[in-house]
Amino acid sequence: MGLSAWRLNRSRLKELGQVFLDFIFPRYCQNCERLLKKQEWLFCESCSEKLPRNEAIVFSKNELFFPLKTPFLYEEPLKNAIKALKYQEDIYLIREMGRFFSKFLTLPASFIVCPVPLHPKRLAQRGFNQSLFLAREIFGPNVVKELLVRHKNTRPQAGLSRKEREKNIKEAFRVINPEQVAGKRILLFDDVLTTGATLAECARVLLKAGASQIEVATLTRRG
Ligand SMILES: [Zn+2]
Repeated sequence: MGLSAWRLNRSRLKELGQVFLDFIFPRYCQNCERLLKKQEWLFCESCSEKLPRNEAIVFSKNELFFPLKTPFLYEEPLKNAIKALKYQEDIYLIREMGRFFSKFLTLPASFIVCPVPLHPKRLAQRGFNQSLFLAREIFGPNVVKELLVRHKNTRPQAGLSRKEREKNIKEAFRVINPEQVAGKRILLFDDVLTTGATLAECARVLLKAGASQIEVATLTRRG
């Protein structure tokens, strides 16, 4: 059997495997609870079409401007799915969300992906970094886990004013190995874009270490 025949069989097997899994563990729309079809992920087609879209294509902060890839606004029913992921490591939900968002988020050529890291203490409490897991599902092997480290354990940004957020996050990150960053095109990734203080601080540190270009991708944006 030639290699191409083997590849063909393998993809066919994968497809059959999915049909089998869907039969044993049926998947439902996170909004209307209708049974999902084979090519539908997270939401059925009709609910997916009604999700509020984000129109902003640029992210600016402190006189820096970055191209922004964010398909949706942070509103229900997506808000609920994102929140659910933050507090429990649910590999099925991560897979559903990853496949759903990979229809809307594509990686620009020759970019690597840097998910916003958690502080090691927060990571230990939560057990996983949802941004890293989601990034891997969406962008695959171009995700680099350890470009940045969060060495300052900041207060949660939620509930802080715009100014307080900026102060809170200042100097919270550092580049682990500048050689991994110098001259690189980097797509910064997080689940939600709020004021952008965290993403801007990550961008600042990466640019300082010599990154040649930064773009920002998030699943949703708070409108
Ligand atoms: Zn639905």
